[in-house]
Amino acid sequence: MTEEETADPAMTFCAACRCNETIPDLSVEDNRAKWARLEAAKRRLFCELNMLNLDFGSAADGCAFPLSFDFKADRSSGSGGFREMDEGEVVYTGHDSGKITINIREADDAEREKLRVILGEKHRTLIGHFRHEIAHYFWEKWFGGAPPPECIRLFGDPGNPPYQEALERYYNSGPPPDWNRRFISTYATMHPFEDWAETFAFYLDMEASLFTARSLHLLEADVPADFDTRLDTMQEMGIRLNEMNRTMGLPDLVPEIVPAPAREKLRFVDRCVRANGAIANVPVA
Ligand SMILES: [Zn+2]
Repeated sequence: MTEEETADPAMTFCAACRCNETIPDLSVEDNRAKWARLEAAKRRLFCELNMLNLDFGSAADGCAFPLSFDFKADRSSGSGGFREMDEGEVVYTGHDSGKITINIREADDAEREKLRVILGEKHRTLIGHFRHEIAHYFWEKWFGGAPPPECIRLFGDPGNPPYQEALERYYNSGPPPDWNRRFISTYATMHPFEDWAETFAFYLDMEASLFTARSLHLLEADVPADFDTRLDTMQEMGIRLNEMNRTMGLPDLVPEIVPAPAREKLRFVDRCVRANGAIANVPVA
């Protein structure tokens, strides 16, 4: 390689690493192991996005809406733990304008499990975080501030209530008691953005699970092309795999029950994925 090529990130890093803007501080013990777990989950995500022919990439790849990652740790004083951290020292996992930030403590199994229990979640995994945050990326890439009418009909108006207000209401009052008749998860009830992200993440769970099951000959036939048949296959497979997990004392592999309104939202996600977002420009049928 010439010196110029070595200086060019497009020539020195793979497509997955080209999206990294901030990596963990490797002088801190254990951060290398945490980073390796994050990268393994990220690569699984990229593999699936490629399988689904979704368009994404880094600025170095010339992507019009570049995707990037910050893997960061909370900045603690190092004084040993009892001091509350200031707002500016806390890293929030989330997405903003193409940048996905992950707090690297999510790569610590004990920390992540503690948060899962506190937040009452059925699953909390690294791959789950990536699937949820990439959903926010695609919303912004495909819809920007103008989601198509069908999207608003299904998920609600993201401007009403405003995100911050919805966030405070959710953490003060929790999900509505009938949430499981309309949503895929409790967190999906928080705001239309989160409903989209939770629904999209379930869709990616489903597509990856069906693909893996077929590759390992756990499914007798090819993965069906029709969305509703794929979801039914996933749910039937889920019942059997949940029983396997219970046999081993593990949490259910597929804890979600999909009510009719969530199925309709998933159908919309499927149409968007198949159109690679171009559905945003398609008039509602
Ligand atoms: Zn979110």
